[in-house]
Amino acid sequence: MEKRMTEQELLESFDTALENGYIFVCYQPKMNHSTGRMIGAEALMRWKDPDYGMQYPSDFVPVLENSGCICAADLYVFEQVCRFQRKCLDSGIRAVPISTNMSRYDVFRENYIEEIEEIRKQYDIPVNLLHVEITESSAIGGMELVKSALDRLHKFGYMVEMDDFGSGYSSLNVLKDLEVDVIKLDMRFLSGNIGGRGGTIISSIVRMTKWLNTPVIAEGVETVTQADYMKSIGCSYVQGYLYSKPVTEDEFIQKLGVLEHEPVGKAMDIVKNMDVGRFWDPQSLETLIFNNFVGGAAIFSYQAGNLEFIRVNSKYMKALGMNMTEKEFLDSDPLAYFDEENKKIYMDALQRAIDTNEEVSCETWRGVCSKTCGSDKICIRSFIRLIGRADEQLVFYAVVQNITTEKKRFDELFKNESRYRAGFEHANMYAWEYDIATKQMRPCFRCMRDLGLPPLLENYPEPAIEMGIFPPEFADTYREWHRKMAEGAEHFEAIVPLTPSRIPFHVRYTTEFDENGRPLKAYGSATLVVDNENN
Ligand code: C2E
Ligand code: CA
Ligand code: CA
Repeated sequence: MEKRMTEQELLESFDTALENGYIFVCYQPKMNHSTGRMIGAEALMRWKDPDYGMQYPSDFVPVLENSGCICAADLYVFEQVCRFQRKCLDSGIRAVPISTNMSRYDVFRENYIEEIEEIRKQYDIPVNLLHVEITESSAIGGMELVKSALDRLHKFGYMVEMDDFGSGYSSLNVLKDLEVDVIKLDMRFLSGNIGGRGGTIISSIVRMTKWLNTPVIAEGVETVTQADYMKSIGCSYVQGYLYSKPVTEDEFIQKLGVLEHEPVGKAMDIVKNMDVGRFWDPQSLETLIFNNFVGGAAIFSYQAGNLEFIRVNSKYMKALGMNMTEKEFLDSDPLAYFDEENKKIYMDALQRAIDTNEEVSCETWRGVCSKTCGSDKICIRSFIRLIGRADEQLVFYAVVQNITTEKKRFDELFKNESRYRAGFEHANMYAWEYDIATKQMRPCFRCMRDLGLPPLLENYPEPAIEMGIFPPEFADTYREWHRKMAEGAEHFEAIVPLTPSRIPFHVRYTTEFDENGRPLKAYGSATLVVDNENN
């Protein structure tokens, strides 16, 4: 009998499930569709409860993530994979590299990577037999943490695969900054049938990944048609039901014995010139990917001072908030939306794209006009790349993000900050921002000026305690505040004698949470008691 467990039931039985092996690992082969050989496998978590039956990762992984249990679960999976690899090595079964999934909460956890490395050493598994998949969406929480995770994984020698590429947060820039070793493109993000959409052109993710020279694995491949298509555009690595569902350890050992193996090869040659045939083929998979995988994207040409749209996808129209038909939009002059200043910014970016042959980015404001809402200004971040030349004509590919809200908020903050600056001087107030995940503290200009603090303090509050800003008898309480904020406490305040001269201040802290209710940042302030509280 199968019955879905509630969140509470899942969390209550989690420990027992780990201890009793109700949580276990299945393996799904990754194949080279051109040779029929196995290139590796992915470890996927399974949970079979004795009373409720099979539970599915799409249901329980989010619950484990929200409760913070996911790290323990992922470490367990990693250890099981090491145990399995050891068994293969010891009993002469030919091993292949196995990837494990690293949740974005593992990325945020300080020592996760050191912990898996410890486990690897315990089982003495060659690091090339263990790959790590990080999901593209980890980058949403900020590139720095993901980058640091990637660097540490690379330092230990792990191959890193970018999972779910194309699910939303895609930009060549993200990929270029994160030097992953393999990209996993999920076929299930493609809506509609291959060749079904009547688009016209294309440059595609697969093509982009060729620029980056990174091998691609297509996952979720269910049919021969899909696999053949992927192969035809130079992507032969596939994972999916076509070859095998995720199977139990014993079944996987069988497959290891039956199937030939081969290592993941180098990526195909970097594509230097545009493939004109594919570019215009409405049936090509690249056309489909253009319409489905990337965010707002456009292809346009430049000749003798004129820009002309060749193709835009629907997300592009949406990002720009254009209430026009595609045809109206394609017929419009791309430069007409800019004023002189922004036009210059944009044209300079195109020039840089031509000069460097690399992806460049720029931020421009442009006017939009809709029949219903009148005119408005929006800010667009564009990532632009030169993809082809034909005689005097240059062809560019651009991915856009509408960052108007972000920009406006920033301007608002900036305005507030100058107001606060003036206010702080009068109110005798010090303020700072504390990042809960990284323990970084950024002080206000007054803290820097009066207390001699640097613009960024690591491992806060230790440096401030060391500097004697807080009295020793308050230090532990203050540390405790920071611990509790990380656990979700919302507010703290106390009167504290601060600085070596022990002047009484009213110290307050307020925590900010993300949309899932996880604590992100805390804002601290210290107001001079005499000045402020007596009026
Ligand atoms: P994912 O990492 O993208 O894993 C691939 C998912 O696609 C797996 O689902 C797999 O069974 C399924 N799949 C493979 N081939 C096909 C196919 O041809 N067609 C279709 N429709 N599906 C296919 P699963 O095992 O249910 O896992 C779902 C998600 O749960 C995973 O997506 C991953 O995000 C998460 N997950 C699974 N195991 C773990 C784990 O150990 N740790 C963490 N943090 N997350 C995990
Ligand atoms: Ca995965
Ligand atoms: Ca995936």
